[in-house]
Amino acid sequence: MTGHGPFASYLNRFNLKRDPSCPCDNTTPETSLHCLLSCPMFGVARHEVGEKTGISLVENQLPQFVSRDDLRTHLEELCNRIIQSVRRRNKDCNTPVHSTEGDVRGTGLSHG
Ligand SMILES: [Zn+2]
Repeated sequence: MTGHGPFASYLNRFNLKRDPSCPCDNTTPETSLHCLLSCPMFGVARHEVGEKTGISLVENQLPQFVSRDDLRTHLEELCNRIIQSVRRRNKDCNTPVHSTEGDVRGTGLSHG
């Protein structure tokens, strides 16, 4: 087992370790590996990578995903999706309330 040699440095490109635990399961640390490989929140995106590449994104395939250009493209796409999602969540923990811009103002000028 050589571990994740190339992948370890790859992970340095994004810091996801801001929350101690992942929203999907408060006992699971929100590491980049968790998000990439096992987090159900990214299950669909992960599945898409498997569909596109024909190789399921599992831990022992990671070295291949990192070392092959064609696979890495898909891995990076998934990483970007995760990064965006996590950043958005970390930035505004409380989802802002979107007030609808329905400005119904009646000018009450009625002469009797
Ligand atoms: Zn998770």
